[in-house]
Amino acid sequence: MNNILLQVQQYLDSVSKKPVKLDKQLVQEFGEACKNALLKQFEEERKDKFEPMRNTFGDLIEALSIFVMKSAGVKLKNEQKKVEYKFDGGAIEGRQDVEIDGKVWDIKSASPYSFDKKFGEAGGFSEVAREDSFGYVSQGFLYGESQKKNFGGWIVVNKSTGEWAVCETPTEHEEYKKTALDNAKNNFKALTKGEPFKRCYDDVAETFRSKPTGNRVLGFVCSYCPYKLPCWGRDKLQLLPQQQSKGKNPKWVWYTSVTNPKEETEEYGGE
Ligand code: SF4
Repeated sequence: MNNILLQVQQYLDSVSKKPVKLDKQLVQEFGEACKNALLKQFEEERKDKFEPMRNTFGDLIEALSIFVMKSAGVKLKNEQKKVEYKFDGGAIEGRQDVEIDGKVWDIKSASPYSFDKKFGEAGGFSEVAREDSFGYVSQGFLYGESQKKNFGGWIVVNKSTGEWAVCETPTEHEEYKKTALDNAKNNFKALTKGEPFKRCYDDVAETFRSKPTGNRVLGFVCSYCPYKLPCWGRDKLQLLPQQQSKGKNPKWVWYTSVTNPKEETEEYGGE
């Protein structure tokens, strides 16, 4: 088992058995990180129309993960350090999550599906790289390479169950690194040349009880993509309760087009 995961699991195991004393400085840092995540989400202006939507929940899980790792004795360095990857033709800026044992690591909160099938035991680094729609592999190698350090991989928390996983970059990773950096450089050049943005997925026809509704919705990958609002249009994309459902708690769906909206029913109150 990976050392980070071992330390975290031993700590969480001990906490589940009996109360432990918390380091007040770490509690203070955690409180600050949560406060900053909220201020960023609700008060800060978007830099440009392509800036992805902020994931406050992800930021809060990241703050909690850092708190748990530090409490468990994992030695973290250079949290949220600004980095810059320079290459012939430009420079890409970013902010790494943490450095542990000389390697750069990214912290992710994952849906139960991605946790199990991508980052967890049923998946692994090659599975994340196989369909890397959100550019996680490029991001990790860019952060590492900008400091001539190795990219360790992802420290992942299942946002439904709170389970942890560590998905490590394989020792033999030169081929992955080359592809990831080439992809990042090509995307950067396309963006700076003002080439039109090309969506990597189409929206899909919505079905309800196996019948097409006439509406169109985001597919699985797009619905989890942090760029979905700038990509599909902040005015066009709508998060609505499933329009044909008569249930009390319909599931929420990202609609790209609603031609068959929910029928309004008259509500009678009082007498
Ligand atoms: S929302 Fe846009 S950028 Fe994100 S996966 Fe879908 S098509 Fe690609």
